[in-house]
Amino acid sequence: MNDKIQQLEQLARQLEPPQQQRDSWNAEVQAYADDFINHIEALKAYDEPPTDGQLSLAIEEEGKPMEQLLAEIRSKVDRAGINPASGGHLGYVPGGGVFPAALGDYLAAVTNRYAGLFFANPGAVRIENELIRWMCELMGYPKGSLGNLASGGSIANLIAITTARDFRGIKAAKVAKAVVYLTGQAHHCVQKALRIAGLGEAIIRYIPTDEYFRMDTKRLHQQLEMDRFQGLEPFMVVGSAGTTDTGAIDPLDEIANLSEQFGLWFHVDAAYGGFFLLVDELKDKFRGIGRSDSVAIDPHKGLFLPYGLGAVLIKNVQAQYDSHYYKANYMQDAQQDWEEASPADLSPELTKHFRGLRMWAPLQLFGLKPFRAALEEKVMLCRYFYQKAQESGFEVGPDPDLSIMIFRYRTEAQNSTRFNERLVEYVRRDGRVFLSSTTIDGKYWIRLAVLSFRTHIREIELCLEILKTAVQQVEQEQAVTRK
Ligand SMILES: *Cc1c(COP(=O)(O)O)cnc(C)c1O
Repeated sequence: MNDKIQQLEQLARQLEPPQQQRDSWNAEVQAYADDFINHIEALKAYDEPPTDGQLSLAIEEEGKPMEQLLAEIRSKVDRAGINPASGGHLGYVPGGGVFPAALGDYLAAVTNRYAGLFFANPGAVRIENELIRWMCELMGYPKGSLGNLASGGSIANLIAITTARDFRGIKAAKVAKAVVYLTGQAHHCVQKALRIAGLGEAIIRYIPTDEYFRMDTKRLHQQLEMDRFQGLEPFMVVGSAGTTDTGAIDPLDEIANLSEQFGLWFHVDAAYGGFFLLVDELKDKFRGIGRSDSVAIDPHKGLFLPYGLGAVLIKNVQAQYDSHYYKANYMQDAQQDWEEASPADLSPELTKHFRGLRMWAPLQLFGLKPFRAALEEKVMLCRYFYQKAQESGFEVGPDPDLSIMIFRYRTEAQNSTRFNERLVEYVRRDGRVFLSSTTIDGKYWIRLAVLSFRTHIREIELCLEILKTAVQQVEQEQAVTRK
């Protein structure tokens, strides 16, 4: 038996590569990363996927050199589809990828500290809870509030909705009479979370919006009165602080008033918009957010972190705990009254990535100043585009609250939707910038979403220039087809 064990050990020890091997892998990966970042401005924001995009490296018994892996990643992953790291990414909600976040991830993976339980790693949990409390403070939440670092906004919203459901005692028998209020502009992950949380059969009231696509709170009030009169159970309202389509912020203060009056759980989806609170001039738009019961906010959007970090903030931590903790016999060593709440007791996860480090490292290394400046810059770039687009013959949507806006070309063409679709296709084929579109109340709009930390005036000018050429191009095509 000993011989066999020794034999196995020899092979198994390959999993702990010696320093020399680590050095060479580190160097190769670093060179790849440097090349990527140093040439980011030359890389497209959108690349047509190659006709043969099939992966070529099979998982086999023997390992391969790093070089092969990087070549595979370069050709099959990093040069196809949307490039979220590009400053030209102006579609959907752009992501980030500030460099120190990668270092945080690297360290978290190398040391593999367990951030699920305070008992297992007090330091890691302290870091995560400190980050959560910092965000709570940003919202104006009182001391004692907490929440959880999740993988993204969808899970953050799910945790809040689950907590609201249990806190308000919406059990199976009550679901059919339970009412949730939101607008048609709420992010679809809210409906998805409602369904996952067993509230798929609850009543959803879509409250109409005003000309700024913000919730019409008069209509909300009327609906609440009506629903209460009918013996239904209004229990939750979801406000948006930065909608995906237009970046609109609902009148949070007025929603808070109605929530108090009708005893609703007030949840705010600030996944996209929340971090704009770091800009003093914008604070007023968020008035009332501190009166909500829970907030979802995405550091992988507004804090320019790479994908994989959303946060839920909750005032009533006991309610969050009651919904998410579970006692198991094999966990008995961890159960005590610790100084800090454990993430595992406040979310569906047990074993989790120590994702706090990827947020903590950039905040510590850069300080807050550059984040505030970048966020303010994004808002101004959006306003700049809003003006310039009008000068170039585009119709625009409402004055943007934050850094997302909608526009479409005013055209004599019979089918103006088709014309604008062609514009988006042109921009995509060009690839230097990437724009996405949406349909609101049956009307086709092109969206501009400025949120990449790499988007500056250069990219906005480039986008305007490409659009101008696109308009000429599509007009020409149409003239030809008319002939
Ligand atoms: C992005 C977004 C979400 C979803 O968050 P993920 O991080 O993609 O899961 C929810 N709501 C809003 C407003 C968003 O912009």
